[in-house]
Amino acid sequence: MGHPSDSERSLANGGLDLIVRSGTIVDGTGAPPVTADIGISGGVIKKIGDLSSVTAADEIDATGLVVTPGIIDVHSHADLTLAIDGRAESALTQGVTTVLVGNCGHGCTPLRDRPEYASAIFGYNRSIPLDWQSTGEYLEKLRQARPGINVGTLVPLGNLRLTAMEDPERSASDDQVKQMCALLEEALDEGALGFSCGLQYPDSVHTRSEELDEFNKIVAAHGGLFAACVRHTDERAVEGIEEPINSAAATGVRTQISHAMPQPGSPRGMT
Ligand SMILES: [Zn+2]
Repeated sequence: MGHPSDSERSLANGGLDLIVRSGTIVDGTGAPPVTADIGISGGVIKKIGDLSSVTAADEIDATGLVVTPGIIDVHSHADLTLAIDGRAESALTQGVTTVLVGNCGHGCTPLRDRPEYASAIFGYNRSIPLDWQSTGEYLEKLRQARPGINVGTLVPLGNLRLTAMEDPERSASDDQVKQMCALLEEALDEGALGFSCGLQYPDSVHTRSEELDEFNKIVAAHGGLFAACVRHTDERAVEGIEEPINSAAATGVRTQISHAMPQPGSPRGMT
């Protein structure tokens, strides 16, 4: 009889590749925390309980630590940094394993070859070549960066306006709204997960509520998410929060409100 193969040895040990021992498990369902071992095989959790009689090739002692499913951060601005450096250390060290970028009406896509785009991208500096334009091309750029976390993107309103309008700091014509609708549809077809707006920023402040509804009909038809960075945080904060709620009611789009932070008395634009 020869030496036992890896798989035979693994079976004898309960077939587990990894055991996370003695962590305080908070499973995200609202259930009370429990202290237990977790047995993993082939990347899948196989057992949760007392595994003190079993060993695995890899073991992590999580005594005194909390063990949770990966946290999903739906409001990230790591659009550009993830495309350049996929290690995502700041996310991973906080337990975040999935992020949604393209928030607040600003992001990396769609892009057009114009210098104003720098203002739409958090963390941009001129040494970084912007060698993509469409959402499909941006997602490919992300794939090449091999991010250490899952990444999804929204389609930012500011980028749509910068792409469809010579001067986004004024009202859009009907034709320009149609063009933005087409760009939004294209981006969603290429893999974007929804749409975001930042209605207090100069490139988006002239967007009418009716335009939002036009965009959100398309987002709803794609089953996407509408993430709204609201128009007002001053004395009209309630009005600011009502606007996306009304659009959700009119279009049926799933909606998340970002930056709901009423600060009456603060100068407009400083909140
Ligand atoms: Zn934001």
